[in-house]
Amino acid sequence: MRVFKRKSVNELLARDVYTKSDRGSKSRSILLSRPKFEKADNKEVYFSVPSQFRPHKTHIIIIYAPSITEDSSLDEIKEIVQKEDIKIACSCEAFLYQGFKYISYKADAGIDKEDRPPIKRNPLQKGMACKHILAVLRYLGVKVV
Ligand SMILES: [Zn+2]
Repeated sequence: MRVFKRKSVNELLARDVYTKSDRGSKSRSILLSRPKFEKADNKEVYFSVPSQFRPHKTHIIIIYAPSITEDSSLDEIKEIVQKEDIKIACSCEAFLYQGFKYISYKADAGIDKEDRPPIKRNPLQKGMACKHILAVLRYLGVKVV
C-alpha cells in the first residue's frame, strides 16, 4: 500500500515563502554573494550565506523529501525543492528582530518556535524570510515571478 503525503493547509511552498517576502529583503538578497551549500541531512539542507560581517547559517527543511540523503547532490535538492513545502531558519539578526522567525512560525513555515511578535521593528508583520533565505531560494532555482 502506498502512503500519500497529507498536506496541511498552512504549509508553504518554497515559492510562496519567496513571494510573501517583503520587497526590501528581496532587493537586498540580490546583492549578496552566492550561498555555499554545506550539507544535506535527511530532509534538512544547510547553507552558509556570505554577508557583510560574517556568514550566516541558513537552514531549510523540505517537509517531504524521502530521497534526500547526505549524499544528495545540489541538483537533486534543486529538483525537489521546486514542488515541496519548506520550513526555514536563519542565524541572522533580521530573522529574529524583523519578526521573520515569528511570522514564518505562525505560517507553519518556521523551524524554531517564536511567540514574540515584532511589535517595534515590524508592527505590520510584513515579509516572511530574510535576505539570506531568499538568496538560497533563488540559488536553488525556486521559480519566482
Ligand atoms: Zn538571514
